Amino acid sequence: MKPQRPPHRRIHPLALALSGCLALSANHSLAADHGAAHAEAPADKPAAHAPAPVQETHAEPAAPQSSSGQDTISRLKAVIERHGAKGGSVSLRVGGHVIAAANSHSAAPSADEPHAASGHKTRPAKVSPKASRDYIRARAAVLSGHAAPEAHAAAGGDSHEVHWEHQGENGPQNWASLKPEFSTCATGQRQSPVHILETETMPGKAEILRFDYRPSGGSVVNNGHTVQVDLAGDNTLYVRGSAYKLIQFHFHHPAEERVNYKGFSMVAHLVHKNAEGQLAVVAVLIDPGAENALIDQVWTRMPLDVQDRVGLPAGLIDMNQILPADQRYYQFIGSLTTPPCTEGVLWLVMKQPMTVSRDQLKLFTHLYPMNARPVQALNGRLVREAL
Ligand SMILES: [Zn+2]
Repeated sequence: MKPQRPPHRRIHPLALALSGCLALSANHSLAADHGAAHAEAPADKPAAHAPAPVQETHAEPAAPQSSSGQDTISRLKAVIERHGAKGGSVSLRVGGHVIAAANSHSAAPSADEPHAASGHKTRPAKVSPKASRDYIRARAAVLSGHAAPEAHAAAGGDSHEVHWEHQGENGPQNWASLKPEFSTCATGQRQSPVHILETETMPGKAEILRFDYRPSGGSVVNNGHTVQVDLAGDNTLYVRGSAYKLIQFHFHHPAEERVNYKGFSMVAHLVHKNAEGQLAVVAVLIDPGAENALIDQVWTRMPLDVQDRVGLPAGLIDMNQILPADQRYYQFIGSLTTPPCTEGVLWLVMKQPMTVSRDQLKLFTHLYPMNARPVQALNGRLVREAL
């Protein structure tokens, strides 16, 4: 997933001038993610707090380049990105490509690379938003991604070779071929997400979900696939005669689920686990609208890089703020929506969507333009519709 630089691209004179005096380096960037297994225990990694990039567009358009054949650039745009209020690093981007970057930090942000042996020894020297995202995802796959913390700690090596993604070569259609452990992603018959059609559901009275959510702390992490909050607190869902503890929640854009042919801007997945290790995921669909207070708290503390983990003060997270008032739901058995696509997950999709503001949505989509798995066949599964 490394962006290809077109061949024969000419370099703007300004870039040459700057690249002559600036040391080439990569920089840090924004991002977020989705745990390989929804219920993974948090991987305690110290946060490398990096300032948010500030972008300044200084000149455009530059003079067209005269060239022949396919080597034609009609416009050039020179952009200087300053990362950090104190001028931590500066990069020059011309025509969408980073030509030069300087980092005044004495310690390179890649000092936390314990997996250099995996082949990801260096950071890409491009810091355009897309390159940043690509880099973040690749790094996420190395650092955690599909690998469970235990396997991760074992640092075998082969667990770092497969980088599943939501798009491209390593996207959902190829997950099963990336690793034997991911085979269920293709062979499973009870996969998630699904498209719920009320014409095919089994409507009727169903038990009331009992949410016992209390203000909690925890931490928010960008795992390279999503923004995830690992909770430390007392949050329990009682359903089907079992007590499921809320472990973490995370987001997808767009929503993975569809209902009656309608898609949604986002979805929050609230991942619960009971004493037997069984998972129950509550899906809260999200449309644009009023700002959400809980998401505001999380976004305010948005991690800045993969495995950057930001602590949340005790009591800050009130999960009731993301539950709709109408708690009717759809219910079916499905799977994790990310590799290894493990089945046997109880899904509870809330019927009433919540809302986020356009700004809240924009912030997430900047990090994750697309982190949703396509809908999977129901294969005759029963979908209960609680009335
Ligand atoms: Zn999810």
